[in-house]
Amino acid sequence: MADYDYDLFVIGAGSGGVRAARLAAMSGAKVGVAEEYRVGGTCVIRGCVPKKFMVYASEVTSHLKTAKGYGWTIGEAKFDWKGFIHDKDVEIARLSGIYVTNLQKAGADLLHGRAQVVDAHTVEVLPKDGSKDAGTYTARKILIATGGRPVKPDFPGAEFGITSDEAFHLPKLPKSIMIVGGGYIAVEFAGIFAGLGVETTLLYRGANILRGFDDDVRAHLADELGKRGIKVVLGCSHTRIEKQEDGTLLSVLNNDLTFETEAVMFATGREPYVHGLGLEKAGVKLNERGAIAVDAYSKTNVDSIWAVGDVTDRINLTPVAIREGAAFAQTEFYNNPTTFDHDMVASAVFSQPPVGAVGMSEAEARHAFGAVDIYRSVFRPMKITFYGGQERCLIKLVVKADDQKVVGVHIVGPDSPEIIQMAAIAVKMGVTKQQWDSTCAVHPTLAEELVTMREKYVPVEVGGVG
Ligand SMILES: Cc1cc2nc3c(=O)[nH]c(=O)nc-3n(C[C@H](O)[C@H](O)[C@H](O)COP(=O)(O)OP(=O)(O)OC[C@H]3O[C@@H](n4cnc5c(N)ncnc54)[C@H](O)[C@@H]3O)c2cc1C
Repeated sequence: MADYDYDLFVIGAGSGGVRAARLAAMSGAKVGVAEEYRVGGTCVIRGCVPKKFMVYASEVTSHLKTAKGYGWTIGEAKFDWKGFIHDKDVEIARLSGIYVTNLQKAGADLLHGRAQVVDAHTVEVLPKDGSKDAGTYTARKILIATGGRPVKPDFPGAEFGITSDEAFHLPKLPKSIMIVGGGYIAVEFAGIFAGLGVETTLLYRGANILRGFDDDVRAHLADELGKRGIKVVLGCSHTRIEKQEDGTLLSVLNNDLTFETEAVMFATGREPYVHGLGLEKAGVKLNERGAIAVDAYSKTNVDSIWAVGDVTDRINLTPVAIREGAAFAQTEFYNNPTTFDHDMVASAVFSQPPVGAVGMSEAEARHAFGAVDIYRSVFRPMKITFYGGQERCLIKLVVKADDQKVVGVHIVGPDSPEIIQMAAIAVKMGVTKQQWDSTCAVHPTLAEELVTMREKYVPVEVGGVG
């Protein structure tokens, strides 16, 4: 049998790679992990975690408003961007350190540098920052977990725009920003900047934000963002950005509208990070979306190479990458063939207000099953009505008509990411509407509305001929 340096070599110490490496090493396997930037990957360093800190920081504005509505008098409130970014970075460094320690405790070797595949059993780690880890390593198995990268559009002046990567380290908070894109990262950053007092415009070329989410959620959120002072501009896109003499950026759109802002941020999508990985040398195939093609066990077309996480572009979320990494380790190092079920994965958008969703949108369910029952409620929660606020929540259930299974739950409103986690358990278990309704409400909560909707929603007909 061939003698290898490692039983497993993992490229990328992010969510999926670290989980797979730790589990494999804990089984007694000899594991090497190469990381070109910082251990923890996108989620910890420039994704979910720092973003959530920014959401918390920006939500204070609405807490202050609520406080006034509840009888508090609060003096002048000031936000210290530099201090916040410093504290955020300290916390991120602490979390990254925990990942390093956990890898080391499990017995994995951490190699600092960019890795590329040389052949089906060989990886080369390129020299980086004087690291001694550069070299060529052989491995019985290779796992690619290199994640994704933001994509910037290509038009004159696009180079003046930043992406989410840079948004975490802006030297100062701009007075105004245009965020380009309609996905979850775009709407989350729109909320962050608006909450921190930045004049915010959200520009999206499509008909409405959050493509892929339920249409009611999309319309409701666009409306709510507007109530919070975010200018939502739909159905048009940039032709160019010009840098003005004073440093501001002039966005010129294809409908001749112009916007002058201090910053432009592109949240126009992410692509699997396969560039320069040497996949062609090992014969690893990509799919039509440019992601590494894998089977249900995350195996590529090459027998000794697997891939997990965003680089496979299945569901690009941290818990999914972690579960894919864990399933790979179970299968290959614990003799326990395991696949991850990508069905009914709940997700959240940390916009303001946030969104929680699990399962099918109404349109998807109608397409799949034909007849569906819809239960829907739009209301002002008691916390907001108390002081006369105008923000509204949306709660919607999509029920398959023939067997009454709840196949979709959609919430826009405070705490919806927390609420949807629990709803997802029931939906994943195949709950019926009758079982759902047999659950007694918790009062007074926003979530009680979920189990008290008895009347089917019938949309009001608009227009009509003859
Ligand atoms: C702004 C933002 C917000 C997000 N918010 C959420 C959220 O709220 N919830 C959620 O679930 N998900 C969120 N995500 C998505 C989440 O971060 C990813 O799904 C997750 O990190 C994917 O994990 P991964 O292991 O596939 O890759 P990553 O975590 O991206 O890790 C890949 C690692 O590989 C390294 N690497 C790449 N190429 C090489 C190479 N050749 N050699 C060595 N190292 C290499 C990279 O430096 C990186 O550390 C967010 C993403 C972004 C960008």
